[in-house]
Amino acid sequence: MKYISTRGSGEKLDSANAILKGIADDGGLFAPEDIPSIDLDFINNLTNLSYEERAKAILSLFLTDYTEEEIASCVERAYGGDKFDDVRRAPINILSDTAVLELWHGPTSAFKDMALQLLPELMSVALKKTGEKAEILILVATSGDTGKAALEGFKDAEQIKIMVFYPNGGVSDMQRLQMATQEGKNVKVVSVIGNFDDAQTGVKQIFGDEKFNAALLKQNVKLSSANSINWGRLVPQIVYYFSAYADLLKAKKINLGDKIDFSVPTGNFGDILAAYYAKLMGLPVGKLICASNANNVLTDFLKTGVYDKNRPFYKTITPSMDILISSNLERLLYHITNDAAQVKNWMEELYKTGRYDVGEKVLSKLKETFWADFTDDSGTKATIKSVYEDENTMIDPHTAVAFKAATEYKKMGGKNYTVVVSTASPYKFGRDALDAIGEKTDNLNDFEVLDLLFEKSKLSVPKGLARLKDAKILHNETVNKEQMADAVLNFVEKR
Ligand SMILES: *Cc1c(COP(=O)(O)O)cnc(C)c1O
Repeated sequence: MKYISTRGSGEKLDSANAILKGIADDGGLFAPEDIPSIDLDFINNLTNLSYEERAKAILSLFLTDYTEEEIASCVERAYGGDKFDDVRRAPINILSDTAVLELWHGPTSAFKDMALQLLPELMSVALKKTGEKAEILILVATSGDTGKAALEGFKDAEQIKIMVFYPNGGVSDMQRLQMATQEGKNVKVVSVIGNFDDAQTGVKQIFGDEKFNAALLKQNVKLSSANSINWGRLVPQIVYYFSAYADLLKAKKINLGDKIDFSVPTGNFGDILAAYYAKLMGLPVGKLICASNANNVLTDFLKTGVYDKNRPFYKTITPSMDILISSNLERLLYHITNDAAQVKNWMEELYKTGRYDVGEKVLSKLKETFWADFTDDSGTKATIKSVYEDENTMIDPHTAVAFKAATEYKKMGGKNYTVVVSTASPYKFGRDALDAIGEKTDNLNDFEVLDLLFEKSKLSVPKGLARLKDAKILHNETVNKEQMADAVLNFVEKR
């Protein structure tokens, strides 16, 4: 299978090259040229397989240039062993009339692990397959979750180094500790004086600086990115939608062929787009519910067909969804229209004016699959409280946003069995989770918060978070925006 640019340059690569490159030459994203299709037997056969075996079955449909052995070893290294704290990897928790798909049992307690544990393995194999001799330097700007998940995924990867920039004072104490204590011989973490945008702009400038890249190449280093526009981050996410369906079959909650709906807390549109690919392949999916917080640019888009990022930006208790440009929407528009020239125009309008309008015809096609809603922080907290009281289950704020949207869709007449996609452990957002159920945490330190949450939720404390209490600080460098490029050079030169 080949991958082509969503903006129509005609560039066509196999998956190994698409994963190494990340983004197409014309600025578009790599999308599969055609979508593999499966039948109900394929799904039925998944029911008695482990998560790893399910992953192999689905990945091999997309990564046709990887051998079965290569895929098997990538999958085992990503999900095998004891990196995940649940043998089912992505278990479903069946509640009274919905199920919650828990994607946070990986090493950093957020759903980013599902993809960022596998991406480095796919990249390492891609380096061998393509004969690439340069060392790859992954640069990441993070507002919290992605940085840690990427560090954990790439630590000690061969022929790859990783450097993460986060805004000084702009991440939670727990997130800072998670990154500052990162081990691994190929990792570097630096905080930037400024906010997330400053860190991200700095990284983008480094990517775009030809002179700088030429200087790196002299040292045999090439830059790459691990953000969610990389196909290697998207494809692992398709797996858990199939896995959830297979688990519901096994639990006799649905019959083979029944359509189910998924409600997905959405930011950059990667997670929900993976569900769309699963549907295109033939997974019986009814509606995909796109759940947003107060930054509801996607809700408006899926209701009106107008994407308009010219609006206030809100900081919410669901920071991983505080986003006004959802990069992966570009892939959806490409598959819905099959018209790369049109997609290119819209993306240029977005860049120039911050707005584009896809028109009635495209909107009605979008609406066949997607439904959208949003909730503000108070609605998010009220949902955490009601799920805690009615279902005896503690959920994180991002999951609550999806839960609320699923409830609203049911009220509008949604009849299918619904799966709420849960993207973070409540432990990652312990203060807000506890606040929602009426517990005060002002006088508690971060580790006392973990203890109180354990008392209230009876969920076991994730090892990766508990361990931070005694972990050594290994990274404490802080730079100005202007010093970021120098910091990169320093890291590269130090071997
Ligand atoms: C990244 C993230 C999201 C948003 O996922 P997208 O793929 O960007 O839409 C939602 N919740 C959590 C906890 C996340 O870390």
